[in-house]
Amino acid sequence: ARKSAEKSYHNTCTESIKNRQRDMTTMLYQLEGALERRELEMYLQPKVCAENGAVAGAEALVRWKHPEKGFISPATFIPLCEENGLICQVDLLIFEQVCRCLSRWREAGVELVPVSVNVSRQHFRDPEFLSEYKRILETWKVPPEWIELEITESIMFSGSEFQYVRDFIQTLHKIGFTCSLDDFGSGYSSLSLLKDLPIDCLKLDRQFIISRFEEQSTRTVIEMIMDLARKLGIMTVAEGVELEEQVSFLREAGCDLIQGFYFSRPLPVEEFERYAFGRSLGAGGEAI
Ligand code: C2E
Ligand code: MG
Ligand code: MG
Ligand code: MG
Repeated sequence: ARKSAEKSYHNTCTESIKNRQRDMTTMLYQLEGALERRELEMYLQPKVCAENGAVAGAEALVRWKHPEKGFISPATFIPLCEENGLICQVDLLIFEQVCRCLSRWREAGVELVPVSVNVSRQHFRDPEFLSEYKRILETWKVPPEWIELEITESIMFSGSEFQYVRDFIQTLHKIGFTCSLDDFGSGYSSLSLLKDLPIDCLKLDRQFIISRFEEQSTRTVIEMIMDLARKLGIMTVAEGVELEEQVSFLREAGCDLIQGFYFSRPLPVEEFERYAFGRSLGAGGEAI
């Protein structure tokens, strides 16, 4: 009986792995179609000044509205894109959308806010993408200084890559981009990163704030990181801020910007424009 139970357990596992693989293959296929049909959309989440609540920037985040399944989280399909080389296409689409927005905002004469874009680790292996980015900047006549590239902390997983990442950031700086270290505190962090990488901004990871914020030790570490960043001339952004008491603590700790549901969720471009500039500037919910 035990043997057969084991066997059926085994079968169930293999079944579910097979199902999962089938789901992923289907999703990949649909994602390729979605890219072709330009079904992906860019949302913008405001970054707000901790001191006075003014909108001081935005992060561009990709959204995929699946025809049957509805909204699919980037946490599900971005890793899939990374495994299959689709990520460069996704990032390029988002980058171009950002340039279109910045160009439209400039024409409308509103006070510009910088927009940040996520850069996948895959781009580090293929620096060719930079020539594409430059081409898009030229097309939309957007100065790179308005754009911040977010590089996730997890690219630093091995010491051997360190030199490479540092050189890469220097290359981005030479072009004129601002660089931030995303998801700081999510696992691989070392304070020496702040000293050794020429980053302009660090984004304190949301897990850091959500899961351990209650503990005094967490608060002490956050204060110390903010203090260190300030002394090194690095801007700070806290991600995933949902509660009033988190806002006031972070403000006290000297965090520069706050990004989180407390102020706003990621918004479709038109809604972001209303939030940041008080009016829609004619984005019209265009597909990418
Ligand atoms: P990320 O770059 O760290 O982006 C921040 C994530 O935190 C976003 O999730 C955002 O919606 C979420 N967030 C912001 N404030 C709050 C909050 O108060 N509470 C909670 N629970 N969540 C909050 P999202 O949009 O699901 O994206 C997940 C990740 O997918 C991003 O993490 C980023 O690593 C990746 N991603 C998203 N768009 C792109 C893209 O265009 N290219 C690449 N390469 N990666 C992307
Ligand atoms: Mg990010
Ligand atoms: Mg992040
Ligand atoms: Mg994150």
